[in-house]
Formats: sequence, C-alpha cells, structure tokens
Amino acid sequence: MKPASPSSAALIAQADRWGAQNYAPLPVVLTRGRGVFVWDVDGRRYFDCLSAYSALNQGHNHPRIVAAARRQLGRLALSSRAFHNELMGPLLERICRLTGMDRAILMNSGAEAVETAVKAMRLWGYKRKGVAEGRAKIVVASGNFHGRTTTIVSFSTDPRSYEGFGPKTPGFAVVPYGDADALATALGPETCGVLIEPIQGEAGVRIPPPGYLRRARELCDRANVLLCLDEIQTGLGRTGKLFCAEHERVRPDLFALGKALSGGLYPVSAVAARDEVLGLFEPGTHGSTYGGNPLACAIGLAALDVLEREQLALRAARLGARFLKHLKTLSHSKLKEVRGLGLLLAIEFTEPVAKAFCKRLMRAGLLAKDTHETTVRFAPPLVINSAQVDACFRIVRETLAAF
Ligand SMILES: *Cc1c(COP(=O)(O)O)cnc(C)c1O
Repeated sequence: MKPASPSSAALIAQADRWGAQNYAPLPVVLTRGRGVFVWDVDGRRYFDCLSAYSALNQGHNHPRIVAAARRQLGRLALSSRAFHNELMGPLLERICRLTGMDRAILMNSGAEAVETAVKAMRLWGYKRKGVAEGRAKIVVASGNFHGRTTTIVSFSTDPRSYEGFGPKTPGFAVVPYGDADALATALGPETCGVLIEPIQGEAGVRIPPPGYLRRARELCDRANVLLCLDEIQTGLGRTGKLFCAEHERVRPDLFALGKALSGGLYPVSAVAARDEVLGLFEPGTHGSTYGGNPLACAIGLAALDVLEREQLALRAARLGARFLKHLKTLSHSKLKEVRGLGLLLAIEFTEPVAKAFCKRLMRAGLLAKDTHETTVRFAPPLVINSAQVDACFRIVRETLAAF
C-alpha cells in the first residue's frame, strides 16, 4: 500500500520553514496535472486558470510533448554548445519560420531571453548604428515585467522588484506604457532599442490603446531604433493570434519567447531576430550551458507541433471571446473592470481584495492568481473547451455573488 501523503498543511509548513519567502502562494499543494486540471495532495481537482503564467498553453502533460520528452530522455539530454546536436537546428528553423525572423538563439528562462535581447540590441547599437561605446540606451515602458535579473529589475517601475537590489544597471529610460507620443520624444541618436510587452501580463493584463504597437513600429523605423517585443507571456497563441503583435500586423526586429515554448515541461526560451541583429554575435560573446540542449529542443519542437496541429491560437480567440462575454455579464459593487484578449483575461476590483477572492475561488475548485492587489487574471490552458469555459465562469460568478 502507498503511504499516505503528508498533509498539505505539513508540506506548506516545510516549504515555509526551509524556503526563501520570495513568493506568497495560495495554500494548495499540487501533485498531478492533466490538460486544464490539476489535483492537490488530498485528491481535490481544480481548473488551472493561471497556466503557470501562460507556460502551459498546451495544457498539463500534453501526451505528444510528454512522449517527445520520453523519447529523448535516456538518449542524449545535454551536449553543450561545444558540439552540435541533431535537434537544435530543427528547432531554430521552426522558430524562425513561425516568427518570420532570420535567426534565433536558444536560452532557458524568460529572463535570459530578455538579457540576450538587451545584449543583442546594444551590440547592434555599437556596431551598426554607431553609438559611442558605453552610451547605448534602451527605452522601456512603465509597469513592465521582463524578469528578475539585476539588469532587468533595474528598469522595473515596481518598487518591490528593484528596492534593495541596486545599484541599477544604467542605459535604460522609462516612458509611460501605451503613450506613443512619450515614446517618440524618448528616441534619440543613442537609442538602440525599444523593449515592450504587447500586453502587460504581470501588470494585470494591461492592454494598450489600439494602434500603439503600430505607432511604436513607425517611430522605431524613423529613428533607426530596434523594436523588441517581449512575447514571453502573450506569444504562442495566448491572445488569439500566434503572436500578439499580429493583432496590429506589426513585425518587430526581435522577439523574446519563453514559457509555452516548452508547453510547461522544461525551461526553454529564445530570441528570434533579423540577421542584422543576431548575426552580430561572434563565438565567445554569449552563451548558456543548457541553452539549446537536445532535451529542450525535443520538447520545444513537440510544443510547437501541438500549438499548430491543435490550432491553439484560434481556440484562444474563440474561447477567449466566450469567456470575456461571460465575464462582462458580472456585476458586483466592488467590480471595476473586465478586460482581456484571447485567453488572457482579468477582472479588476475597486479595492485590494484580489487575493481574498482567489482564495474563495480555490475553495470552489478554480485556481487563479491575483496581481497587484486589485486584479485577478484568468488564463486557462488553450486546450480548454467551451463547456469547461462555462464551468469556470459559473465558479467565478457564484464565488463573486457570495463575496
Ligand atoms: C514570465 C515573463 C518573463 C520572465 O520569464 P522567466 O522564465 O520567469 O524568467 C519575462 N517577460 C514576460 C512578459 C513574462 O511574462
């Protein structure tokens, strides 16, 4: 007989005692996942409406991705970039064809992809634009979230991200998100790049005004500045298009990708860019021991297969519209706004009650995460079906009614 699992309370206490307290998770201990569902150690089932911040667009343990990982495990997991491996070329080509870019580079975490993009844009600034050494500037937007490295938190506008972690890396300028005129005035002869999210996920699903990305593209063209879109969360189907930039028919010079690039099985990230940019890296100028390893590539290829075969972007568009229509029928004295694109949705309260609401949702069988005290994001795996969307909404509606 299997031994009884330690109670979730004991497991939470253990993590609290021995772990750094850099997260404040909901009090649920997960042990298994399949598709849109996860189960806790006590056997309770939940809808996963966070999808690990959109890393699980393909759903938990997608059989095709798991099978690809199994095939590769026990064959060759790591080659390092000191040698070639047979799967990196296929994944690089696949990413380039998908993004319409010339070259790609594989990393592991999203933050590493952003760091890579920052280095690539600076390199282009010095080697192509003629910016004086040490002067290159990158323009970012207020409310941004691009990761947690010391350089990336240097240009965060959220004090919890940067306070206590200085000194800040210089070379970044912040403009208000969604304000194209402010962006225009920030671009100068020393600006090598603009780095923005097409929708700010971590900021609480902040959607910029229509035409913002298009204007950003035009401004960058006019000022001879690279446009880098961080589609780590919005990309790979989440907003109803393969890339969120497609909603405005914008082609950036660089894409930062991650999260769903592995369907939640393994950290895989990438930068895809024009040859003029990524072609500037020379041997020895950048790298990662695990970046582009064969196991990651096998998983990445399968994750992209699933995205295309199951037309997950189209599903996100259709089912996201259904979910949003449902959410728009909600009414509550503390409800301020409902918004979203594809299956990246949020409800915003007038008061800091988001966490309390998420706890109630959890008890009702739905896992969602609060951001910034007032906002709850709903981003289920894109493999969700319409009956499941309706079931999620019923939980939200009934929990709100009793809130
Ligand atoms: C999650 C995220 C990152 C960072 O990815 P990590 O894998 O956590 O390092 C960067 N940018 C955006 C938009 C993200 O959502």
